[in-house]
Amino acid sequence: MSFVTHLECAHCGQRYDALQIHNLCTACQRPLWVRYDLDALRKEFPKKALFGRPPTIWRYLEMLPIRDPKNIVSLTETITPILETKRLAAAFGVKHLYVKDESRLPTGSFKSRGMTMAISKAREFGITRVAVPTAGNAGGAMAAYAARAGMEAYVFMPEDTPVINQKECFLAGARTFRVNGLITDCGRIVGEGKRPKGWFDVSTLKEPYRIEGKKTMGLELAEQFDWELPDVILYPTGGGTGLIGMWKAFAELETLGWLKSAQKPRMISCQSDGCAPIATAFARGERFAKKFENAKTIASGLRVPAAVGDFMILDAVRESRGVALAAPEADIPKWMQLASAKEGIALCPETAVCLGALEVLLKRGAIKPNEQILIFNTGAAQKYPEAICEDLPQLDITKPIDWTAI
Ligand SMILES: *Cc1c(COP(=O)(O)O)cnc(C)c1O
Repeated sequence: MSFVTHLECAHCGQRYDALQIHNLCTACQRPLWVRYDLDALRKEFPKKALFGRPPTIWRYLEMLPIRDPKNIVSLTETITPILETKRLAAAFGVKHLYVKDESRLPTGSFKSRGMTMAISKAREFGITRVAVPTAGNAGGAMAAYAARAGMEAYVFMPEDTPVINQKECFLAGARTFRVNGLITDCGRIVGEGKRPKGWFDVSTLKEPYRIEGKKTMGLELAEQFDWELPDVILYPTGGGTGLIGMWKAFAELETLGWLKSAQKPRMISCQSDGCAPIATAFARGERFAKKFENAKTIASGLRVPAAVGDFMILDAVRESRGVALAAPEADIPKWMQLASAKEGIALCPETAVCLGALEVLLKRGAIKPNEQILIFNTGAAQKYPEAICEDLPQLDITKPIDWTAI
């Protein structure tokens, strides 16, 4: 049982049979949307169907692409809490600042949303070997879900990917390779190896179902806000699946008539100035982004110099009357520390750039202090020991303690 009708190219509109395995559109090499029979959903999936269902992303099953729930490969993708901040909000001079804390998801980042969907779908198709290029967390999540499904996994990552990501892939039994290049080089390796090695390519947006997993962020958020969305969403953008998926969620919910207001959030795509292809294209008024040269950021999830879904991100940002902008790479540790010290919320470096962006947009008047502002904490700060360089003072127990130093 599924409400999926077909897949559809996001660029040329070419339709594809959802019962077949697909990657990109074969006509124009762009990503595919998963389309649903929203009229049937409206009749057969009323809001009240959610009542009493467990608090995981699978409560929205009818709006997801899995045909048989037996194929679901899950580590329990829990509904993540939305934390209202008071002290952090005050530091920015705003009234309502919320953090949706994705760090609690399996493998410590929201990549599990996309990967539980992709691997479940792969199981549904009978796929047994999967491969992915990764900036870090996608590899860890894919390795974990592939392990859970008993699939063979291959992960290719830039050699300077955070060490924790390297080790989590290894631990989960993935064949893990460090590559002396960028994620785009890793992507090329997976593309070339597909045929000789028999891999299914699970790359961001080259695999159509990861967006549907990330879409659950939008569904959850809407339900948590009682179907009235916040005014502004700040989202740290790498490949863009999350932003694209959320925007799709809002559009589907609107068609289903579940939203209380026609007003949808302004989507703010946040990047580091160390790798800002989307922000650059936005500033130039372009629909497609140029490859960002010499990409360098400790926010490894944002180190995507060329995104296949660039136009999908930019379309969503513009449709929402939002903006794409870059915040200073150098300020990442400062924002991480501020959030943690004010609220005890350990932000990943990717999300730290959202605070930088918030500061800029408040100054410009593009965000008003009384608006409802929501930031996605996309991963656990604990996965990035490299991002915090502070040396802690040491105590020498062979000497009397110097109490003036404490
Ligand atoms: C992958 C990743 C991002 C970027 O997500 P996209 O949806 O690909 O733009 C942001 N933060 C973290 C922690 C990530 O792992």
